[in-house]
Amino acid sequence: MKDRFGRPVKSIRVSVTERCNLKCFYCHREGEWHIHRNEMTPEEIRKILEIARSFDIRKVKFTGGEPLIRDDIVHIISLASPLMDKDISLTTNGTLLPKYAQDLKDAGLRRVNISLDTLDPEKYRRITGKNTLREAIDGVFTARNAGLYPLKLNMVLLKGINENEIEEMIKFSADTEAILQIIELEAPREKENTGFFKKYHVNPKFIEDHLEGIAKEVVYNELHRRKRFIFNFHGKRTEVEVVRPMHNTEFCMYCTRIRLTSDGKLKPCLLRNDNLVDILTPLRNGAGDEKLKELFIEAIMRREPYWK
Ligand code: SAM
Repeated sequence: MKDRFGRPVKSIRVSVTERCNLKCFYCHREGEWHIHRNEMTPEEIRKILEIARSFDIRKVKFTGGEPLIRDDIVHIISLASPLMDKDISLTTNGTLLPKYAQDLKDAGLRRVNISLDTLDPEKYRRITGKNTLREAIDGVFTARNAGLYPLKLNMVLLKGINENEIEEMIKFSADTEAILQIIELEAPREKENTGFFKKYHVNPKFIEDHLEGIAKEVVYNELHRRKRFIFNFHGKRTEVEVVRPMHNTEFCMYCTRIRLTSDGKLKPCLLRNDNLVDILTPLRNGAGDEKLKELFIEAIMRREPYWK
């Protein structure tokens, strides 16, 4: 199904909780700023995915908060995996992966993105507020050993903190056979001129330009037309993806996903909260499939490129 701008919707990003065991100072909380305790049950998530599937959406990414903080996360994955047969993945800070990786894989999870902005314990503590770097790194190895593939490492580029660590992160990714995703710090227009954003934002275009020069191959992802550079790093095949969402009209033009907040609202865009469509309340009030499909169409029709 396409939106008013001719963009097909092919995937859904589902937040399962707004709770988290880390406190990353820059976190956008998937655009979910209000505190609530109104999480969807696994069956409610499954029902909404079934509606998504009726529009040929067959890829899901689970997020949060920290999705592994939910003790029913394995059940959620097992309900979702038969429906989302093209891709089922999860983004996590990795600290709980040593406990869950194998069960998640057995439940049908294909792959994970692990957020790892730095390999330096002091910088990690400064970013996340916690001393769990060891657990996060263990999580990378457990995920790899469980066969959650391809493994991606998410590194949000932060001025004055980790911008000098790119080479080290590329090396760690090559060693763990992971794809490194270097991500630009993202914020809505109204926050762009704040001291906070200016203090930490770095435009990663210079990395793209550098990788363009050394890459053997450049692959374009369907979602956001993100560029993935494939090259040799100290004799090892290495892949680095650069995610540049800010003021990037191409990024928005190739956005093929819809979001679902942890309290059951369809969310057309990370950076906006004025166009949500509540699907959970009607579901709880007994709405049938036709009504739920209408709500889904409504959310798709509210999609609009943020950067035009
Ligand atoms: N707790 C999970 C995790 O750490 O991956 C899932 C939630 S987290 C919000 C999902 C991803 O968003 C992480 O990779 C995180 O680094 C990224 N992220 C958070 N705030 C961001 C921001 N302001 N700009 C760009 N990426 C951000």
